[in-house]
Amino acid sequence: MIRQAKWITSPRDAGEAAFTYSKRFSVKGELKRATLYASAMGIYVPRLNGKVVGDNVLAPGWTSYKKRIQYQTYDITSLVTGDDLLEISVGQGWAISHMGFFCQNHFFADYTSVITAIELEYADGTVEHILSDESFEVYTSEVTYTEMYFGETVDKTAPVELVGNAVLSDVETELIPQINEPVRELIRLSPAELIITPKGERVIDFGQNMAGYVELKIKAPRGSRIVIHHGEVLDSEGNFYNDNYRNAKSENTFVCSGGDDVFKPSYCFQGFRYIRLTEYPFEEVDLNGFAGVVIYTDMKRTGRFVCGEPKLNQLYHNIVWSQRGNYIDIPTDCPQRDERLGWTADAQIFFRAGAFNYDIEKFFVKWLGDVALEQGKDGSIIGYVPNAVVREDARVSAGWGDAACIIPWDMYVLYGNKELLRECFPMMKKWVGYMRSAGEREFLWLGGNHYGDWLAMDSGEDSYLGATSTDLIATAYFAYSTSLVIKAGEVLGEDVSEYRELYANVRQAFREYFMENGMPKKDIPFTAPPPKRHGSYDTCGHGITQTGLTLILQFGLCEENEREALAAHLAKMIRDNGMKMSTGFIGTPYLLHCLSDHGYTDIAYELLFQEGNPSWLYAVCHGATTTWEHWNSLKEDGSFWDIDCNSFNHYAYGAVLDWIIRVTCGIKPVESDPAYHTVEIAPKPDRRLGFAEAEYMTRSGRIRVHWYYKGEKVYYELDIPEDVTCRLTLPSGYKQTLVGGSHCFAE
Ligand code: BGC
Repeated sequence: MIRQAKWITSPRDAGEAAFTYSKRFSVKGELKRATLYASAMGIYVPRLNGKVVGDNVLAPGWTSYKKRIQYQTYDITSLVTGDDLLEISVGQGWAISHMGFFCQNHFFADYTSVITAIELEYADGTVEHILSDESFEVYTSEVTYTEMYFGETVDKTAPVELVGNAVLSDVETELIPQINEPVRELIRLSPAELIITPKGERVIDFGQNMAGYVELKIKAPRGSRIVIHHGEVLDSEGNFYNDNYRNAKSENTFVCSGGDDVFKPSYCFQGFRYIRLTEYPFEEVDLNGFAGVVIYTDMKRTGRFVCGEPKLNQLYHNIVWSQRGNYIDIPTDCPQRDERLGWTADAQIFFRAGAFNYDIEKFFVKWLGDVALEQGKDGSIIGYVPNAVVREDARVSAGWGDAACIIPWDMYVLYGNKELLRECFPMMKKWVGYMRSAGEREFLWLGGNHYGDWLAMDSGEDSYLGATSTDLIATAYFAYSTSLVIKAGEVLGEDVSEYRELYANVRQAFREYFMENGMPKKDIPFTAPPPKRHGSYDTCGHGITQTGLTLILQFGLCEENEREALAAHLAKMIRDNGMKMSTGFIGTPYLLHCLSDHGYTDIAYELLFQEGNPSWLYAVCHGATTTWEHWNSLKEDGSFWDIDCNSFNHYAYGAVLDWIIRVTCGIKPVESDPAYHTVEIAPKPDRRLGFAEAEYMTRSGRIRVHWYYKGEKVYYELDIPEDVTCRLTLPSGYKQTLVGGSHCFAE
C-alpha cells in the first residue's frame, strides 16, 4: 500500500539539518484500525499528535539503499484522536552522511526524502488512505545538524519554520517490508563515576564500552550549551582520548530551552564508554541527569555461558557486549570510528559465536539479501555490505567474500532453513566462480588485493597482513567455499558434479603449489609486492605459520596420514612461541578447534588461559569491557597500538566463544540433521575452570550442559529437549545415545 504513496522531499535542501514533513488529517467515521507505513532516505522519526510512534530507533535501518529500502508498519489505532497531525522528521542517517572507508557523503542519495501512508479502516468496512504527496508541509526542526560519524546538534531555541510544501523526490528503489527485528533502546546505564582528568577536563565513565547515545535531562538558562565528546578509553595519563575515532568527531551539542529539557540524538549513534563534557553550563555536574542508552537489534537472547574462572566470565561478558555494539541493524566491524561497516570477514568469523548468544536468523537473512544484491556480475563481493564506496575503490579479498558461502551454510546447520540456503545458492556458486576466474590459473587464486591474515602478530606487531602467504589463504578459501557449495547443493538436491571436480582440482593444485612432503612450503613467492605499512613490510609470503597449518588441517587440504605431523608442528610452533598464538582474523577462529580436533586440547586451553600478549585474556587483564580489534590495542607500556584501526569494540576475536561452547561445553550441531535436531555433546572439561555451564535455546528446544569438578570426579548434567537425539561422548571415551530429558553422569 505504501507503494502508492509518493517519495517527497523539501523544496529547500535540508543540508545537514533534520526537517519535518507534516500532514493534518481527520477521521471520518467509526475507526476499526489505523496503520502507519513509513520509510525514508535518511533516518526518520514518526510522531502522531506530538508523540513518537513506536519504539524502534534508526528506522528504516541500513540496506543497500540503491537497490532496496525497508519500510516499517505501526499500529496507530490507539493514538488517533479524530483530528490528527502526522509528522515525520528525517535526518541524514546512513544514506546521506559521510560514510564508508573513504568517508564519502551523498553516496546513496543527495538529499533526504520520505514516503509514508496511513490506512484508516472504518467499522463500516470502508478504507481511506492518506498518502505522502505535495500536500505535505515541510518544517525546520530543533535538530540543526546531524551526521552519522560527526554527531548531532539539538537546539531547543531553534525556530521551527515552514519551509514550504513538499516536492516530489527522485528516489528510485524497491520498497520492502522490514525483515529483521528493529533496533531499540534496550539497556540504560547510569554513570559509574565523574572523573576530573589531569588536564582538568570533566569526564563521565559509564563503566561499560557500548554503542548508543547519552540522554541528558537538564534545566539550564535558555541558550546554554552542552557539548559532549565520546571516547572508549582514557590514555596512559588518565586523560580523555578518542584519536582512534579518526574522522568520526562524535560530537553532540545540546542547546537548552530554559525549561526542563531531555536531549538525545535521534539520527546517529556513538560507540563509547567515556564522555567528555567539553561544554557544560554548571560548575557542579549532576550525574543523575545522564544515562547511557544502549541500542542494538532487538534479537531474542538464546544462549548463556558461565564458568568458575572469573576472567573467562569477563571475556564472555565482553563478547556479548561487542555483539550488542556491532549488531546495530547490520553486522559491523566497530561502532565508533569512521567505519561502522558491514565488513564481511568480521561477520563470518563471529557468526557462530553470535548465533549462540542471540537468535540472529532474521538479522542475517536481511544482510545476506544485501550481500547477494551487491554481488558483482563477475561474482565478486567487496569488503563490506552495504557498499558505501565507488566500486573501483573497493577490494575483493579471500576470507571476506567467503562470507557469501560460510554464513548461508552455517545458517542452515544452526537453523535448518533450507529455503534460505536455496535463495543463497546462486550467490554461493557465483562467488566460487569469481575465485575460479580471479587469477591467471583456474585452480589457484594467486595475486589479488587481500587483507590476508589481518592483524596477525607473526609479521611484527605493527603489521596488517601477517606472515601467512595471501596466495595460500586465498586458495585455501577457494577450496573451502567450493566444498560448501557441494554440501549446500547436496542438501538442495542440485547437481554438483561440476563443483566436485573443481574441488578436487583446487585441492590438488593447492597441494602441488603450496606444499611439499606433507608440509606447507616455508616461503611462497609473492605474486604482488606486500604493502609497506608502519615503517615495516608485511611478510605475507610464508606457508609454515600457525594460520597456514591451521587452514590446511581445518579445510581438509592434507591427506589423513599427514595430519599428525602437521598438527604436531602447529603445537610445536605454539610452544616455541612461549605458548602463544600469532594468528590474525583468518587463523584465530579455527586455531583452538584445530588443536582440540587433533589431540591438543591441553594446548588450546593454555592459549585460552594465556594472559600475555597476544591472548584473549590480555585485554581482560587490562580492564576491557568489550573485545578489542588488536590483541594489543593497548600495549603493555600503556601506549596505544596506533590511531589507525584501533577499536576497543571489535567482535572478530570473540569468535573463540564458538570453541568454548562446542568444545569446553561440548555442544555441537550435526550437519546431517540440522537445527540441533540431533546434537553431539562431547564436553572437554579442564580443572582450572572448576565448572562450566552453557544454556542454549536452539530451534529444537533448550539444551543445557553443566559440568563440575568434585573430588577426583567430574559430574555432568545434561538437559536435552524432547524429540532431540543426543550423541554423547565423555572424555573417557564413553559413548551413549540419549533422547530428551535430564541426564547425569560422573567419571
Ligand atoms: C576493519 C576490519 C576489516 C578490515 C579489512 C578494518 O578497517 O575494521 O575489521 O575486516 O578493515 O581488513
